[in-house]
Amino acid sequence: MARRARLFVVSGPSGVGKGTLVSRVRDRIPNLGLTVSATTRDPRAGEIPDVSYHFITEDEFERLVAEGAFLEWDGHFGSHYGTLWSEVNPHLEQGNSVILEIDVKGAFNVRKALPEAVLIFVAPPSLEELEARLRGRGAENEAQIAQRLERVEMEMGYAPQYDEILVNDDLDQATSALEELIRHYETDGGTDQDGNH
Ligand code: 5GP
Repeated sequence: MARRARLFVVSGPSGVGKGTLVSRVRDRIPNLGLTVSATTRDPRAGEIPDVSYHFITEDEFERLVAEGAFLEWDGHFGSHYGTLWSEVNPHLEQGNSVILEIDVKGAFNVRKALPEAVLIFVAPPSLEELEARLRGRGAENEAQIAQRLERVEMEMGYAPQYDEILVNDDLDQATSALEELIRHYETDGGTDQDGNH
């Protein structure tokens, strides 16, 4: 069956393990394209320019927005972040799919710009399980955990609008499920009668 390069967007609540899932699936599908986002925030210790992010000025960011250079962009914590088309297109043109790890709002912005993008929501087995994982990290106090859980519920509310929901119960199983989804959408199996997805 013919293989078609696709843009995959993976979202899910903080603590659900989507970063681990994406990096594990990349080990299994080495041609999956990696993108470097642009941001106006300052580099943190240990971050490498043009590897961690493209660090640019607000003026540059505004110019790029005006030029339509972003597939999607958003503001977080007083800075701007975005995915440049120039990061995505070379992979697709070479016939390689791209996987973006991005929040719910970013995911829907991607869908607006590129309706054939495949949106995958990574969900925890249950809210209780996610709460336990967040506590297990030990990085946050009770108020912060409560705030995160509120956000999780908001994010989970968007899950039905995604093309696929993947429950991250067992990491090995979820990695295989994500790999299968990607391979499925890359073949004609991912196309419905109307030619969508
Ligand atoms: P940080 O400053 O901690 O690296 O990232 C802050 C936030 O920006 C995170 O929630 C991260 O997911 C988001 N972010 C990073 N890159 C992008 C991007 O390209 N587009 C959007 N919409 N958000 C991004």
